[in-house]
Amino acid sequence: MDPFADTLQRLREAFVSGRTRPAEFRDAQLKGLSRFLRENKQLLQEALAQDLHKSAFEAEVSEISISQNEINLALRNLRTWMKDEKVSKNLATQLDSAFIRKEPFGLVLILSPWNYPLNLSLGPLVGALAAGNCVVLKPSEISKNTEKVLAEVLPRYLDQSCFAVVLGGPQETGRLLEHKFDYIFFTGNPQVGKIVMTAAAKHLTPVTLELGGKNPCYVDDNCDPQTVANRVAFFRCFNAGQTCVAPDYVLCSPEMQAQLVPALQSAITRFYGDDPQSSPNLGRIISQKHFQRLRGLLSCGRVVIGGQSDECDLYIAPTVLVDVQETDPVMQEEIFGPILPIVNVRSLGQAIDFINRREKPLALYAFSNSSQVVKRVLAQTSSGGFCGNDGFMHLTLASLPFGGVAAGWAITTASSPSTPSPTTAPACCAAPGWRRSTPSATRPTLRAT
Ligand code: NAD
Repeated sequence: MDPFADTLQRLREAFVSGRTRPAEFRDAQLKGLSRFLRENKQLLQEALAQDLHKSAFEAEVSEISISQNEINLALRNLRTWMKDEKVSKNLATQLDSAFIRKEPFGLVLILSPWNYPLNLSLGPLVGALAAGNCVVLKPSEISKNTEKVLAEVLPRYLDQSCFAVVLGGPQETGRLLEHKFDYIFFTGNPQVGKIVMTAAAKHLTPVTLELGGKNPCYVDDNCDPQTVANRVAFFRCFNAGQTCVAPDYVLCSPEMQAQLVPALQSAITRFYGDDPQSSPNLGRIISQKHFQRLRGLLSCGRVVIGGQSDECDLYIAPTVLVDVQETDPVMQEEIFGPILPIVNVRSLGQAIDFINRREKPLALYAFSNSSQVVKRVLAQTSSGGFCGNDGFMHLTLASLPFGGVAAGWAITTASSPSTPSPTTAPACCAAPGWRRSTPSATRPTLRAT
């Protein structure tokens, strides 16, 4: 017995009926999403606190208001995005009309992770609904309190003939992926990304894979160590370090390290007090499995800040490691926890070489008072996103796209409005507003002062 067959059949029939296509329908779905956020804010905050010990501040900025912004953007632009785009003609077609029509894909599957379980479910959902698709959302089974709210409450705010939440872990998701979808949007780790892409390939289904990242953070000798430390510590420890674009490791000279370590200690104490475990502002590790993995990484190099852990509380202290070698385990995998290794380099050139001989990162950060240095890092490296003198603030700009650049980190295979097929009405991108599926031929860049 196939547990998904009836649901998928119902959604397919709804799509074929054409009811998701009118702007009024899409508008109503987006407004439903907005009401869901407004009317269930406290419930969502509680669920996020139970899942990840997320503070109300973090829940607001990184889950609720960021999702609301995405909805607002889609509501504001919906009708413009839906319009046919006129294109230039040649002599032979002067009397014809040539245009690009954006069509929904059909039935879209969204597979979301546990680290931002609300935002990374609603973000892709906004794009898919705005584009007139029917949607199956499969939230992460690991963030189970948020999963419950998404499964039990969210459908009440949407047209249930066109939208469904299905539940399950790897086994159930494997069965779900045997079905044909018209588009799959996956956020998660690269190993699972391969499973999803393999399953999609059987049906030639286009996919967006938003995967993990090991994001370098270059700190130049010419900068104010305390300002850098405040920003690096904040973005490293946000959501207990469980952020795909978190600064993963620092590259700096031994001289800068000597100034940076006390500055990081001062920043961590300022943010989380003398006993970070009792701070309401520091999150927890999502599961025993990830806790054990992170505890194993604490033995790399030498601990100069933090290093404490408490299994019963899934607590890992904000930790800084020095004397770290490139070959250490902490430099081989995405850390995804509040641990910051510092690797010494002797020059900017050496830092750039270090970055360039590894996988292209999802995000890259460079700190320097010299704009020449920041520009050089930007010019001589490649990454999904880039920030000069800041952490992942580029995510807050709806005007910038998001994604990675290389296989193994984040792949985007969605067709985009900029690569239409050469007919008068090509099947184009699902949602021009689907920012997270924008191929990263461009490099979103933010330079802060
Ligand atoms: P995950 O890959 O374990 O899970 C993601 C989804 O896939 C979940 O819904 C899960 O149920 C499902 N899944 C897990 N194992 C599966 C299997 N064997 N077969 C089929 N489906 C399976 O990812 P996660 O641990 O939830 O999230 C953390 C990862 O996500 C990190 O690597 C992080 O960097 C990445 N991430 C990337 C972004 C981005 O935007 N690029 C954002 C957030 C997280």
